[in-house]
Amino acid sequence: MQTGFWQPASIDVSRMSSQQQHLFERDVTPWDEAADSDRLIAEVVFNRPLPTPWSYVVPDDLRDLIQPGQRVRVPFGRGNRMTVGYCVAVGSCGTSSRSLKSIDSVLDREPLLPPMMLELTRWIADEYLCGWGQVLESVVPAGVKKKSGTRIITRFRVADLAVDQLDSICLPPKQRAVVNALLDSERPLAIDELTDTADCGTGPVQALRKKGLIQALREREVQFEVEPGPADRTADMELNVHQQRALSSILSVLRSGQHRTILLHGVTGSGKTEVYIQAIRAIVGYGRQAIVLVPEISLTPQTIRRFRSRFDAVAVLHSHLSDSERHWHWQRIASGAVPVIVGARSAVFAPVPHLGLIIIDEEHETSFKQDSVPRYHAREVARQRAKMERIPLVLGSATPTLESWLRTQKNQDTLVTMPVRVAGLPLPPVVIVDTRNDPRIQQGLALGRALRSGMQSALRHKGQVILFLNLRGFSPTVWCRACGDGVKCPSCDITLTWHRDRAAAVCHYCDFEMPPPRQCPHCATPGVRYFGTGTQKLEHEVRAAFPEHRLLRMDSDSMRKPGSHDEALELFRRGEVDILLGTQMIAKGLDFPNVTLVGVVDADTILHQPDVRSTERTFQLIAQVSGRTGRSERGGRVLVQTACPTEPAIGFAARHDFKGFS
Ligand code: ADP
Ligand code: ZN
Repeated sequence: MQTGFWQPASIDVSRMSSQQQHLFERDVTPWDEAADSDRLIAEVVFNRPLPTPWSYVVPDDLRDLIQPGQRVRVPFGRGNRMTVGYCVAVGSCGTSSRSLKSIDSVLDREPLLPPMMLELTRWIADEYLCGWGQVLESVVPAGVKKKSGTRIITRFRVADLAVDQLDSICLPPKQRAVVNALLDSERPLAIDELTDTADCGTGPVQALRKKGLIQALREREVQFEVEPGPADRTADMELNVHQQRALSSILSVLRSGQHRTILLHGVTGSGKTEVYIQAIRAIVGYGRQAIVLVPEISLTPQTIRRFRSRFDAVAVLHSHLSDSERHWHWQRIASGAVPVIVGARSAVFAPVPHLGLIIIDEEHETSFKQDSVPRYHAREVARQRAKMERIPLVLGSATPTLESWLRTQKNQDTLVTMPVRVAGLPLPPVVIVDTRNDPRIQQGLALGRALRSGMQSALRHKGQVILFLNLRGFSPTVWCRACGDGVKCPSCDITLTWHRDRAAAVCHYCDFEMPPPRQCPHCATPGVRYFGTGTQKLEHEVRAAFPEHRLLRMDSDSMRKPGSHDEALELFRRGEVDILLGTQMIAKGLDFPNVTLVGVVDADTILHQPDVRSTERTFQLIAQVSGRTGRSERGGRVLVQTACPTEPAIGFAARHDFKGFS
């Protein structure tokens, strides 16, 4: 097992970052080199919303053990309850009149985090107004704290002092057998190996130990290894001029030794991933590592394969890892053995020793924001980390957020554009279908005339179809015919969605569930109606309309089992499914050359959400969904059904005009 993966910084305040100096100046008695520096003080933070660290005296027996980044147990609060905290700095300190409490014990043999990560977590605490200890608690995975997947093993050997005396000492036969077994072995033996070889119980071993003739060695060992899946290696591609220009911008920032953020605005299919890969290639050549953040939903086998086929070792960090897997990856990453880390939001905290580049693909994705304490936006954390490490940050998107776009307009960040698809494949034509007078829609069906016949023609020519609908469940509204009121969630005031398979009305915000009411909760009229179409109802309609075609529904209800998401996409890729229907799960970064029609069933569902960003989201969604087709010579097109055909966001997206929209 890797130990000691970073050197403890001996505390010399002149070598500290200004932030750490600031910490000392603010919270501990000021430095005075001449003063008696006998007392060692540790700064400790807790998993609480506290604004400052607490100072503790380091007792003599812990002086050589303690390092910033380790957990310690200390008396805390009025009752002096033993509490676990993180040591964030250690320094000798002049005589102080304050009577400080002492550290009770140090819990980790090695720091859990390198010094740079301590600085970064401190920044997060300041920036997002929460306790430094709270940030550390959430950044260090539970599996790392528990050292999951490792075990302490005790092995025995003959004590150094005893070797000479052994021949002259008289021992009972069983003890003699144990000694002989150890002398014959070239390495220390575990207890069961030893008792097997000596053919005895544990009694003689304990007796020898008491006499001081043999020693026990305790070591922590890895019991668990992650097998990376085999990957066929493929060569790097020859970049086109736009890709080449993007790569040079990244490399020139890298060589400058300064931080800079580059916004890589490339239409879908422009080859952004290939640019990332070749930028990483250059960085790995300098002996450094790269972190690639992608939305959790894009961590598909396809994405992973693309990186694994180009680099020797790729760590993939997603939310379904077990504690042991996470611990194993964390150790390997910290040892510098992994050049490329691909992961969701929290991979921004990967403890790489020599970071050279951070990439955020699909930077506009909302999943980069964490909504529980510590609330942070991975993009902003990445920007800060890249600043501290003086390295480039690359943000890639076909539909950047307005914030990121504005920063380039103010020259705070650099804009690089990749306006065309690789191999000159055109962006697919996007047709806006006005549903206001469509007879099928008026009958309450979800597929209008144009979309239905578009599907027929695509399927007849053996193309695949993707249907996108942003509402899951059966009917998005449970509704009373008499008073016209929707049935709402008691805690969120959101209209409940009818899930026919579960026979329940469900709140999509808090997961509140209730049997469908027999009567309206407002006016007590018996019988409620279900109104609107969710993915489940759409599935029924499509199955009825295309009974001879294979259909797969993907939403968070149908994809509950871990791995089912990947399996489903694999079926679709292999052509074993003709129609893929789902929520935003299917809108992201997928590359299926055989898809010749994409239908956006109801573009208005996002447009009418009570959210200031709803037009931006609508634009992004249509642009992303259209990226799913037209990826090969077969071409492809997109039909967008809307009752608001004049809405600017929809028009700009149809023309692939990001600049016009922003
Ligand atoms: P994006 O990430 O911008 O959507 P991708 O990186 O997925 O684009 O590239 C789209 C397709 O083009 C992929 O199949 C990729 O293998 C291919 N591709 C990318 N760059 C090149 C290149 N320089 N030459 C040939 N094919 C390329
Ligand atoms: Zn609710």
